[in-house]
Amino acid sequence: MRLASLSVDLDEIPNYFSIHGLGAPPELSAGLVYDVALDRLRGLADAGRLPLTLFVIGSDVARTAARDGLRAALRDGHELANHSLDHRYDLVRLGREEIRRQIEAGADAIEAATGERPVGFRAPGYTITDEVFDVLRELDVAYDASVFPCPAYYAAKTAAIGAIALRGRKSRSIVDTPSVLRAPTRPYRIGRPYWKRGDGLLEIPVQVTRGLRLPFIGTSVTLAGPSRARLLAKMCIGEPLVNLELHGIDVLDADDGLEALRPHQPDVRVDAKAKIDAILAVVEELRGAGYTFVTMREAAAVFGTR
Ligand SMILES: [Zn+2]
Repeated sequence: MRLASLSVDLDEIPNYFSIHGLGAPPELSAGLVYDVALDRLRGLADAGRLPLTLFVIGSDVARTAARDGLRAALRDGHELANHSLDHRYDLVRLGREEIRRQIEAGADAIEAATGERPVGFRAPGYTITDEVFDVLRELDVAYDASVFPCPAYYAAKTAAIGAIALRGRKSRSIVDTPSVLRAPTRPYRIGRPYWKRGDGLLEIPVQVTRGLRLPFIGTSVTLAGPSRARLLAKMCIGEPLVNLELHGIDVLDADDGLEALRPHQPDVRVDAKAKIDAILAVVEELRGAGYTFVTMREAAAVFGTR
């Protein structure tokens, strides 16, 4: 069996400003993910004939535009999952009580706004700990999708946080434990520590390629362009699940109102249409190799019983 899923973290624009240690974004661009990207993502899903899994930040659904967009996405057959209440990059350092509130209240907000309670969770910035897993277990979460066992990403993130500090700014992003690099790269039940196998919660790791474990995520696919994105997809073929994780910003570009991010993020310089083409090229490549696209919840149901 070959399953594939496309998930999208709907991180709103202020998160990117805080990663780079910039101030607040201009008001007009602060809501671009829900105001512009979500419709493009629904269009992408239509074109690719696949369901999306949308990881929603609970506090964002206070906006009517966000609520309406998510309800429309649900009607299209997409899954909504929990990306915490406030997307605190330092979630793991907040203490048990606040960790629980961030996760539970995130799910509550999404359920109140859409009528659907999410069953999946992804931590902000892919940073997770055994303590967070304990809370997920308490809250009966069906699957987690935060572990990213990717040496290239780990090195790049650690270097970027250092470089931002050298320029005298402070990134909100935090460095993860390198032990995450020892985690399995396919769906597994976590042990203790979570990067070992056990009989705990089902983890669906963020995708890396076979062998080199290159990141197979929105940023690498959209920066690669359609033909090299196909090569990256080929490097994942053979995996029982190929789980491509995007962000809302992957279907936006500088012209949408993100000029201020242009010096900080090369992906913002690529035309949105070209980025969507690269994602669809990957979908076509995987489908051609016999993959069926499902939501993460459906993938979890299959891999959770293995
Ligand atoms: Zn996020």
